[in-house]
Amino acid sequence: MPELPEVETIVLDLRKKVLLRTFIDVWTDWKKMIKRPNSFEEFRKAIIGKKILDIRRRGKNILIDLSQDKILLIHQKLTGHLLLGKWQFKNGNWQSLIKGFLSEDPMNRFLHLIFWLDDKRQLALSDLRKFAKVELWDNEELKKELSSFGPEPLEKDFTFEKFKECFKGKRGRIKQILMDQTVIAGIGNIYSDETLWQAKICPFKDVSKLTDEELKEIYQAMKEILAKAIKLGGESISDFRRISGERGHFDKERKVYRREGKPCPSCGTKIKRTKLGGRSAHYCPNCQIC
Ligand SMILES: [Zn+2]
Repeated sequence: MPELPEVETIVLDLRKKVLLRTFIDVWTDWKKMIKRPNSFEEFRKAIIGKKILDIRRRGKNILIDLSQDKILLIHQKLTGHLLLGKWQFKNGNWQSLIKGFLSEDPMNRFLHLIFWLDDKRQLALSDLRKFAKVELWDNEELKKELSSFGPEPLEKDFTFEKFKECFKGKRGRIKQILMDQTVIAGIGNIYSDETLWQAKICPFKDVSKLTDEELKEIYQAMKEILAKAIKLGGESISDFRRISGERGHFDKERKVYRREGKPCPSCGTKIKRTKLGGRSAHYCPNCQIC
C-alpha cells in the first residue's frame, strides 16, 4: 500500500504538472470507487469545470484543492496509483498514446478512473484490486474529518518532545502503534518495519516499556527513512508507480521489509516474518531483541 513517501512522491510530481488545469470530464467503470457524493453522476456533474488550485498530502491521502472551495480526496489504498498521460479506448481497452513505462508496465494498465484535463492530457487511476477511494468534499467539512489524524512526522515542528507525547498513556506493540493513523499519520507496514530495524527495536515491544533513549532512536530512524524514501520516489516492489509510470527506487534500500529468509545487512542473521495483528512484521531476531 502506498505510504507517506509514495503519496508524497505523487503529490510532488502532480504539483509540477497539473496545477491550474481544469477538469473537463471524468469516466469510470467502477462507480463504487466514488464514495462522495452518493453517485458517480453527481460526482461527474460537480467535478466538471473545477480548477486545480493546489495539491497536498495528509497522511496517506492526496488532497486536490479545487475552485469553489471543494477538495478532491484520493486514497490510493492497496494498489492504486495516479498516472498522467494520454489514452484512447481501442479494442475494448484503454491504450496509452505515450510509449514507454505508461504502456509497457502491466501495473499501469488497470485504469478504472480517468479525468480529462483542459490541456488534452488525462489523469488516470490505475488500481489492480479496485480498493481506492475517491471523494469530493467541501473544504470546511473535510477539515473536521481529517482532524482525527495524528501529526505529520516530517513537519519541521514535529520535535522529539511532540513525538514522545504521541505515545503517552498508550499501550500496545510499537509496530502497531506506529501504523495507527490517529497516533502518527502516513506510516504503514513498510516504513514501520524499516524504522524499527534501523532503531534496533523489536516490533512486538510494548510502547509503554520503551525508554527515552529507544524512542529517540525510533524518532530519528523514522525521519531519516521517510525523507530518504521520498528522495528515491518511494518503493515499487509490488504495484506502486509514479505519475510517469516509472518505478520508485527505495526497493534497494530495504533492509527487512519482504526480505524474510535473507541475511540481516547488519549481522547476517536471517530476517524473520511474523504475523502481527493481521499484518506482517519483518525484523532481525538478533538485532531487534525484545
Ligand atoms: Zn541483525
